[in-house]
Amino acid sequence: MPTVMTHAVVGLGLGKVFTARKLPWPFWILTAVLPMVPDLDVLAFGVGIPYQSPFGHRGFTHSLCFALVLSLTAAVLFSRRCRMPWTALAGFFFLITAAHGILDALTDGGRGVALFWPFDSTRYFFPWRPIKVSPIGLKFFREAGWKTLASEFLWVWLPTGVLVGAVLLVRRVGVPLALCTGQAGRLPYGDQGMPPGTNQSSQGG
Ligand SMILES: [Zn+2]
Repeated sequence: MPTVMTHAVVGLGLGKVFTARKLPWPFWILTAVLPMVPDLDVLAFGVGIPYQSPFGHRGFTHSLCFALVLSLTAAVLFSRRCRMPWTALAGFFFLITAAHGILDALTDGGRGVALFWPFDSTRYFFPWRPIKVSPIGLKFFREAGWKTLASEFLWVWLPTGVLVGAVLLVRRVGVPLALCTGQAGRLPYGDQGMPPGTNQSSQGG
């Protein structure tokens, strides 16, 4: 797996891309936490569930089906607190949670990802796997954890940062550009803002 914080970074980055609205803190907490949830399955090692089991690491919690159930549940429960329709929230939460399995399938170690559980328990990898797999638990500090971080920075953090930067730039520059070209602020019926033939003096009352 990429490290859990990398999954959170992807969620937060896509959150900035998803909306320009100022959203309350529950949205951002969920945006960071939901992409990390699939890796709770490492607890399976502690209770003797083998890696290759559908209930082992990279098993059902990494599937698209699990992402769908988790995102729908979170969206329905928190749509009011996030001040957003649950449908839009569910779509976004699904994207960032499903991205976890996709990123894991791009790593160069461990077992593949049960993306299509419960219909297919096959563990999948992409043919191209540039991300170094993260050692699990304390091994991260004993082994070459920094190599994992360097590879995640190159293949995940950097592209996410570039995407977020580009979107923020377009949002910021887009408005002045529209002003320069006279496209922004133009009223639908010309500068008076009224349909032709309307007598301005007849308004009010
Ligand atoms: Zn994972």
